[in-house]
Amino acid sequence: MRTSNLLIATLKETPADAEIVSHQLMLRAGLIRRLASGLYTWLPLGLRVLRKTEAIVREEMNRAGAQEVLMPSVQPAELWQESGRWEQYGPELLRIIDRHQRDFCYGPTHEEVITDLVRQEIRSYKQLPINLYQIQTKFRDEIRPRFGLMRAREFLMKDAYSFHLDQASLQDTYDTMYQTYSRIFERIGLNYRAVLADTGSIGGNASHEFHVLASSGEDAIAFSNQSDYAANVELAQTLPPASPRAAASETMQSVDTPQKHTIDELSEFLKLPAERCLKTLLVEGAEKNTVVALVVRGDHDLNEIKAEKHPLVAAPLTFATPEKVREVCGANIGSIGPRGLDIPVIVDFAAAHVADFVCGANEDEKHLIGVNWGRDLPEPETADLRNVQAGDPSPDGNGTLEIARGIEVGHIFQLGEKYSNKLNAVVLTETGQSQVMTMGCYGIGVSRVVAAAIEQNHDERGIVWPQSIAPFEVVLIPVNAHKSQRVRDKAEQVYQQLLEAGVDVLIDDRGLRPGVAFADWDLIGVPHRLILGERGLDNGVIEYKHRASGDGAEFSFDSLLDEIK
Ligand code: ATP
Ligand code: MG
Ligand code: MG
Ligand code: MG
Repeated sequence: MRTSNLLIATLKETPADAEIVSHQLMLRAGLIRRLASGLYTWLPLGLRVLRKTEAIVREEMNRAGAQEVLMPSVQPAELWQESGRWEQYGPELLRIIDRHQRDFCYGPTHEEVITDLVRQEIRSYKQLPINLYQIQTKFRDEIRPRFGLMRAREFLMKDAYSFHLDQASLQDTYDTMYQTYSRIFERIGLNYRAVLADTGSIGGNASHEFHVLASSGEDAIAFSNQSDYAANVELAQTLPPASPRAAASETMQSVDTPQKHTIDELSEFLKLPAERCLKTLLVEGAEKNTVVALVVRGDHDLNEIKAEKHPLVAAPLTFATPEKVREVCGANIGSIGPRGLDIPVIVDFAAAHVADFVCGANEDEKHLIGVNWGRDLPEPETADLRNVQAGDPSPDGNGTLEIARGIEVGHIFQLGEKYSNKLNAVVLTETGQSQVMTMGCYGIGVSRVVAAAIEQNHDERGIVWPQSIAPFEVVLIPVNAHKSQRVRDKAEQVYQQLLEAGVDVLIDDRGLRPGVAFADWDLIGVPHRLILGERGLDNGVIEYKHRASGDGAEFSFDSLLDEIK
């Protein structure tokens, strides 16, 4: 590539609206341009970085046996209504109406679409497990888009979805994806941590996030200085003492055999007027006697409840939308737990610590009391989660916690039957029975990875790309070439030689003053620079400079290829 064929759009001034260094440098180095809030154009140099990042992700997904597909980014509302998320997802979902007045959304994620595909195409257990992925544009109408592509509205995600006959198979693929993610971030050359995570609105059971460590990170993560324990600060104090993997599987505990009670008995038990008790919710598709919701005791700031992650609520619950509970109970509800917004949960947290929840039973006028989740789990820590500090004991009992800031670049979940159940995605088992598939999902914010890489790799002069995703690996700069035919000829020869050797090289034929050209390449962050001038030609050498270390050298023309390769 020649700079004469390349749009180089570097800026001297730091744009005033860019708060963090990656956003500033992506604009200044001419990698991206803003179109509107949270919407960016990738310029040629930036796109090369994005494509290289994408290629590493694709290679590793393929290596792990996942198959690439490409789904539409516009999705019909019907599927989201089937899963219940049309109501639950909230304003982050960009809803669109077509000319026939049909509802659609621009996909923020693709669980519904993939589950719809798989329920049609996969019929037999023999076709399982299967792991399908895509690398595709997502739209989330973020309440506060910021930091450029770090929290954009339109961004590139790799999202994978796996389907299984049983939990053991899911765990297997989950572990493979965990390793694949580790390989991806190692290959890119990022300093990252995998941490235990909350399962949020996507729902499910086990979950890990992959964080790139950077002071600008929006999340705080806590890890033990003596063991593998690592978690979101939110989770750090509420998880049971166990290794991350063990903890993830332990949270799948079943509900104790509960007793049934009428509203009156419930009211007596709760010492609450009957009208404040949870009326029974009959949830279609859910088995009788399964838990549909928990009852609140006392007044709570719902936002506070939502913000907390209670370790006792870790059972596979049945669904009822918050709206439905509100309608039936006439009370507000919070939503917590592994199935996120799908589980209306109203808990008196003081009471929760002594367990024995009360909840609807999915049977007319019946309630369950004495429902306990994860009875065997140890008492949770009661400290204010926002006050976790470095030096606090690690919840796994090994060492003390260190706190770091992280950028969430990847997230893996065990979804279980959350979507397959609602969309009735079944296969025939070996014995000819119909069985709901179990699912996992696995995301990487490909465009966010690019921004995160800059947060971790820059200096006062600009970006210092890890070689794996640099827009070019080598830039060749002929100095004062317009005055010297010799320099022009030799530069052209060296350029061709490097190209033939397969080096990812760019020649700067703009004829800028050397200082100006060097400043550009420092800003853009190409790892290796070759400078060719009259003086070097006289001595038979080409000057070399390493962007990251600043180290220089002189290579003879004969040894150049060996040195560069
Ligand atoms: P966040 O907590 O940062 O809002 P998320 O948990 O909502 O992210 P997931 O649903 O887990 O995101 O999506 C998978 C990945 O997509 C995330 O790990 C992240 O890397 C990326 N991602 C999510 N939202 C954005 C965004 N607004 N801009 C860029 N990347 C994003
Ligand atoms: Mg989000
Ligand atoms: Mg998150
Ligand atoms: Mg996430």
